[in-house]
Amino acid sequence: MITPSRRAMALPGYPLAEIPGIKRRLLAAGVDVIDLGAGDNDTPPPGPVLEAMHQAIDDPAMSKYGFQQGLADFRRAAADYLERRFGAVFEPAGEILPLIGSKEGLAHLPLLVLDPGDVAVVPEPGYQAYLGGTLLACGEPHVYPLRAEEGFLLELERVPKAVLARTRLVFANYPNNPTTAVASREYLERLVATCRRHDILLAYDNAYCDLTFDGYVAPSIFEVPGAREIAIEFHSLSKSFSMTGWRIGFAAGNPELIGGLTRIKTYTDTGPFLAVQRAAVAALDHAESLVEPVRAELDLRRQAGVAALRAAGFVVDSPLAAMYLWVRLPAGVPSGPFALRVLETEGVVVLPGRAFGPAGEGYFRIALTVGPDRLREAIARVGRTLVEAGAEGISVAASA
Ligand code: PLP
Repeated sequence: MITPSRRAMALPGYPLAEIPGIKRRLLAAGVDVIDLGAGDNDTPPPGPVLEAMHQAIDDPAMSKYGFQQGLADFRRAAADYLERRFGAVFEPAGEILPLIGSKEGLAHLPLLVLDPGDVAVVPEPGYQAYLGGTLLACGEPHVYPLRAEEGFLLELERVPKAVLARTRLVFANYPNNPTTAVASREYLERLVATCRRHDILLAYDNAYCDLTFDGYVAPSIFEVPGAREIAIEFHSLSKSFSMTGWRIGFAAGNPELIGGLTRIKTYTDTGPFLAVQRAAVAALDHAESLVEPVRAELDLRRQAGVAALRAAGFVVDSPLAAMYLWVRLPAGVPSGPFALRVLETEGVVVLPGRAFGPAGEGYFRIALTVGPDRLREAIARVGRTLVEAGAEGISVAASA
């Protein structure tokens, strides 16, 4: 018998893993399923991006290996975007790296800096690739629980000194998935200062920087002076341009960090499909105008969702960014059984807070993947489960 490695065994169950199976069964039984689980918007990619992809497919050169450097024009477009958007100037050839989705880069990064036993500080609740990448690199995750009363901010100085001394890497993600928290400039300055003081690599995950509301503008970590010495920033085209399945993102950072991650990736993949990189150029070169309709639609969904949730008796903040609602459950209602009950009895996929680690308990996450009417319908169904849970003395716990 082949036994999995200890690092493979250490991986917790992936939060989305069993949902597709249940969803398939319900759909086969004719249930009208509404999926608010994965952050996968129902809007199509922008027209110019599709057009560029059609053309790229017909170009035989686009069917060749991209290798790590990929398309020079993609790196140029990424650098131009960063400069226009954040005033951050990066050299396309040595300071930008195409990724097969930002998840790929985030998960590979620990291999660059962690030796066995080195610590990576991982926020919880949080995107599970941080934890998975750390475990696969034989690093030691130090899970930092994000708390509502602290604005869901990861305060590195609160990590015990002995742990901080062994810490080589910290993941930070604002606007945050799943909590939707945003970070002030003062917070980011504090984070950068601490990383510099302790020589810790800061992996700044900026996947949601363009999906913001009520006039909020999300910064880049590189707007903080001194960040370049210790930070690498990850960008994704998935959510902003509805290109989740295309698998394209990029990392930006100083040449040592980008070169290091390039070296790791040389042994694990051969870069994103060149045609996708060419289509991504069309997206990045017109990011401002192409993201706006996606953002505006998410804003409508956000407002409809928040109003419907509050009307159904839930406690939820109206988020300033990202594409989620992070909804508090009444005390004593466990998120896993609640989400399962919502799916099995109401045909609505929501993610239990616990799927983002134990510190996510007490919440569930709604992704704004469907239009306002459908969202209201879904939330009415979720509300029915809440009422039943209350009426039954929260007996959803019994199905745990
Ligand atoms: N980072 C965060 C916080 C996310 O929520 C996601 C996707 O949900 C990603 C990164 C990965 O995005 P992708 O790999 O599609 O670029």
